[in-house]
Formats: sequence, C-alpha cells, structure tokens
Amino acid sequence: MTASRMARDARSTHVTGHSGGSSFGFTVGARLPGRHGRTGVMRTPHGSVRTPAFIPVGTKATVKAVLPEAMREIGAQALLANAYHLYLQPGPDIVAAGGGLAAFMNWHGPTFTDSGGFQVMSLGVGFKKVIAMEVTPDDRATAAGKERLAHVDEDGVTFKSHLDGARHRFTPEISMGIQHQLGADVMFAFDELTTLMNTRSYQEESLARTHRWASRCLAEHRRLTRERGDRPYQALFGVVQGAQYEDLRRTACRGLESLKDEGGNGFDGYGIGGALEKHNLGAIVGWCCDELPDDKPRHLLGISEPEDLFAAIENGADTFDCVQPSRVARSGSIYTRGGRFNVSNARYKADFTPLDPDCDCYTCANYTRAYLRHLFKAKEMLAATLCTIHNERFTLRLVDAIRDAIDAGVYDDVKSDILGRWTAGNRTRFP
Ligand SMILES: [Zn+2]
Repeated sequence: MTASRMARDARSTHVTGHSGGSSFGFTVGARLPGRHGRTGVMRTPHGSVRTPAFIPVGTKATVKAVLPEAMREIGAQALLANAYHLYLQPGPDIVAAGGGLAAFMNWHGPTFTDSGGFQVMSLGVGFKKVIAMEVTPDDRATAAGKERLAHVDEDGVTFKSHLDGARHRFTPEISMGIQHQLGADVMFAFDELTTLMNTRSYQEESLARTHRWASRCLAEHRRLTRERGDRPYQALFGVVQGAQYEDLRRTACRGLESLKDEGGNGFDGYGIGGALEKHNLGAIVGWCCDELPDDKPRHLLGISEPEDLFAAIENGADTFDCVQPSRVARSGSIYTRGGRFNVSNARYKADFTPLDPDCDCYTCANYTRAYLRHLFKAKEMLAATLCTIHNERFTLRLVDAIRDAIDAGVYDDVKSDILGRWTAGNRTRFP
C-alpha cells in the first residue's frame, strides 16, 4: 500500500467530521475575582479540553513507559509531542503517512506539538550544558570544551542533530511545514529561545526577530491551511518571549496580538515561553495576561511543580505542559499531597503502604512502596510504568482540583490547604 493511500485510510477513521474551516474555539467559564485566572473549554477537531488543564508530554509520540489507554484513564485530556524530535526521528512524512500524530500514536484525543525552537536552542546552545554560567551576561559564552551546536541568523537556526551530529536548518516556514505534517490540533510559532545569560540588548534584538518570525509563521500557516483544506483545522499559537523584562513581555504580547494574515486572522492562542524563574513566574504570566486578548487560550510552556501551577493558573494560564512528572518518576521521585520523596530509598524496603494514601491511581490501588523500591533495585521496566502513572495522575488531579475550586468559588481555600500540606511535607522530609 502506498504511503498516501495509508494516510488516507488512517485519516478516514480518525477525522471527526470537522474538516475544512476553523473548528478550534475557546470559551471562558468561571473567573477568579480580581485576577486573570479562569476556567474554560478549548474545542479542537479531536475533542475538547476543560481548562485549566495539564497536558502531559510524549516527546517522541509516546509518554515514556505508559500506554495511551492508561493516560486516558488517569485523566489526560490531551498530549504534547515535540516537533524537533519527531522531525529527526522518524521524520514528519512518516507521521503524516501514519495519519497524523494522534492516529500514529493511537491517542484518541487532542494533541499539541511545540515548534522545535526550544529544543533546537536548548539542546544546541544549552542552559548550563554549553553556555558557561558566568556571573555577567555574555551572549557569546560557551562552557569550556563545549561546541555551540545552534547558530541563529535573521532567517532561522542552523543546528546539529543531538543524535548523529548531522546539520539541519529550521526556519519559521520549515517549522510550520513540519507541524502541519505532524497534524497536531495545537501548534506553536517558531521562536528564538534566549536564556537568562543573554544581555538586555540581545533580548531586545531577539524579541524583534521572534516577532518577525511569528509574522512569517502566521502567513505560512494560512498558506498551508488553504493548501490542505480537506484536513481538520490546526490552531496556531504565537509564542511570547522577553525573559524577565516586564516591558519586553508586554511589547511582545501587543506585537503578537496585532499580527494578522491577509484574511484578518490572528493567532488562535498564545504560548508564554522562555526564561522563567520560580520567583517571577506568576508575575510574568500576569504581565502577559494583562496584554493578551481575554477570549484566546494561553499556554505556559514547561511547568508542573504544584506551587508553579497555582502561580500560573491564578495569573491567567489555561494550559501547561511539562516532561517533569514522567522524567523524575523514572528515577523513583514521587509526588504526593504530603510532598515529594524517592521510593528507591532504603527506608521503603519493607514499607507496604501505597505511594500516596490519598491517590486514586492504578499504582496506588494495587502496589506498595516496598514492591516499587524492589523494582527499581532490580532495574525492572515496570518501575517506570507504575511511577509515571502515579506522578502524571498526581499532576492531572491537582489541576482538576484547582479548576473545580475556581468553578466553586473556593480557590484561595483550596490553594492554602494543598500548598500548606505540600510545603510542610517537603520540609519534614528534607529539613
Ligand atoms: Zn497514585
């Protein structure tokens, strides 16, 4: 069977009848008085997402070690995969021939792809890995003995694959082409990721470039949407950079909002990206949400810690993704309402209680800390599966609880209760 025939057949079983035109939308529900936080519903051709929502990450079109059915069962509403990784392996043409990301990975629900900008820069320029962490910002700094793998110019980024060192190039148009082939319901504009090590003048220069790239992404997105008019609509989110600078963040938001294609269409939503630190995360999200249109969804890239989720949500973020819950699970680090601990520790050798007595997941219903510690010590694959199920469920359920609290008008009570237990538990375990 030819690739295009396979694609047609695979698509025909998964398209939900929304092909052609825009079937993406967002409706605001309850609001947090005096703040930007709100609940809502994001509609996509592959289903709806109730927001705020945590979007688990399946970088290479799989949440590592866990079946898609299990992800659905623990309450994942959508999954996010990575354009950079899927471009290198297996290639966007294969994903397209397999019916697009959702069909290819057997996920019957909405999907997101990020633009690849973050990985191109973070794997190539590398926070802490390649950039020397000097005290003074320096745009040309690299760590001793490390080669810079990504180079930015006005038109795009040239980088070397982290897999085999082969040279590749991403431009806004190439990223849009890849993401259209991958076929996720929500895509992100290609942006330049700066680091906190960059100088203010470089941040300004980069922000202006990211704005020009956003404009090119929007134009290319409309062209590809018209060209592939028989396919379900894919929404495009513009990405706000600007690091820790309030004026740059606000300027970036106003700039993205003003961008329209020749048909008068702007971005379908916005991503808040870039260099964020724990202490200013809430403030940065708040500045952006002051400026961004209220009727469009806002995605915060890369957070999952409980205190960060509260800060992001109350300041107006609707969705967020993070690889952290599954990544740390694979080394035995467990999130619970009473703080974080590592189940591979010797103290759990004969502890026959569940990971978290308050958790309703499959792992906590059926397995003990002693068994999970044994699996880690014996290097059994099941350890990763069971701990990932638990950590993803913990994060999804926490965001569900926050959403319910906003709907019920009891957000502040729920926040102080959950964060109080979380902080006290961490203090007891890690004094
Ligand atoms: Zn659990």
